[in-house]
Amino acid sequence: LQSFTYKHVLVLGLAKSGTAAAQLLLDSGVQVTINDLKADMTADKVIHLKNQGAKIITGEHPLSILNGVDLIVKNPGIPYENPIVNEAMKREVPIVTEVELAGHLHQGNLIGVTGSNGKTTTTTLIHAFIEADQMEVSIAGNIGEVACEVARTTTEEETMVVELSSFQLLGVKTFTPHIAVWLNLFEAHLDYHHTIENYHGAKAKIAKNQTNDDYLVYNADDKAILSYLPSLESHLIPFSIKGKVAGSWADDQYIYYKHERVMKRDEVVLVGEHNLANILAAIAAVKLNGVSNKAIQEVLSSFGGVPHRLEFVTKKNNVYFYNDSKATNILATSYALKAFDQPVVLLAGGLDRGNNFDDLVEHLTNVKALVVFGETANKVAMAGREAGIATILFVENMNDAVLEAYNVSAEEDVILLSPACASWDQYRTFEERGHMYKDAVHKL
Ligand code: ADP
Repeated sequence: LQSFTYKHVLVLGLAKSGTAAAQLLLDSGVQVTINDLKADMTADKVIHLKNQGAKIITGEHPLSILNGVDLIVKNPGIPYENPIVNEAMKREVPIVTEVELAGHLHQGNLIGVTGSNGKTTTTTLIHAFIEADQMEVSIAGNIGEVACEVARTTTEEETMVVELSSFQLLGVKTFTPHIAVWLNLFEAHLDYHHTIENYHGAKAKIAKNQTNDDYLVYNADDKAILSYLPSLESHLIPFSIKGKVAGSWADDQYIYYKHERVMKRDEVVLVGEHNLANILAAIAAVKLNGVSNKAIQEVLSSFGGVPHRLEFVTKKNNVYFYNDSKATNILATSYALKAFDQPVVLLAGGLDRGNNFDDLVEHLTNVKALVVFGETANKVAMAGREAGIATILFVENMNDAVLEAYNVSAEEDVILLSPACASWDQYRTFEERGHMYKDAVHKL
């Protein structure tokens, strides 16, 4: 751990990221205390950490464990209101997330991707572009290992591409991607960040420590992002789906980087305007890395999407099934709907975060039938009624949802799971929801 001066670190939360952080710290000779309310002391990984000298405290968060601690590595899911976190803030003990450790460890080029939506898709594309050009690259975040685990084996020649949530970014002090990608900024995660200002502030942290040797690839179409730019020192590279800008952009026929044609648009497999934004962001990021147009073309002419993100599932009797289980907010669903010209049977609903669905109404224009489920079923149905959708069906489970949707569909229709809600009311994860959808489709 270069440039890491801390001697005794408290790891809060023993999930995947906490385990990786603890291991890395132990390897580096740092004294480690781990605190997790529900750690299973008989689990192999816990025993393993203990055998290496980690002190593990479970069942409670005694404030005394803060004594002598000079840094806290906090699981991004633990809120800052947690009493022990609160006390640490009072005592001015720095609190970081595991990506901070990755930043100390990784010596090669670092690309960080953030935004309210499109992170995983863009991170995946950047990784694929660089890989297709035979350069050393690794990926960390939602779809891979946690960053500090990946950084253990990266080389100086290697580019590490990291997907960064707002929760992770809140806990960074010195972490600085050489190339930061800021996709968009929507109202999300208010239950955790409380105010939009807090949430936006967290996202802006991706570029906060950048100097003018570093690059920020940003969405020039996003007004909220534009308002942050004057406070940054980064070298700015815009992308836009609306017209020509100094970075990457597109017209009806081609995708461009600056003045150069990168690729014909009709050769791109990914659907949706939102994915065009992700593609442009990814292209700008890798062009800064010297990646060739050929590598970009190779990837974009075959890549059909990350699972659960507007993923094409199958075609049955000329009805097309798409799985967009990852769409956990209204904006994501609106982008998915925009990707289709043909009539859509939409499956939506899920965890109730207390918001209404008024903003969904205007996006339902091509929805011919709505199948609703979960805690928000009534609220989503209300938006459907307001949009004038004649067929609104309430169901209890995914099998019924798919069956009802198929029954009301006609040839050339799209059946789309894009719930506009988180999954935790009925499923463990959005992946589980997506898999159950795909299983139900294949069972038809
Ligand atoms: P994240 O990792 O940020 O959650 P994903 O790439 O997993 O983003 O995409 C999640 C969902 O968000 C997709 O299913 C899609 O509906 C929507 N989405 C993806 N990219 C964008 C974008 N650039 N703008 C708006 N919505 C998007």
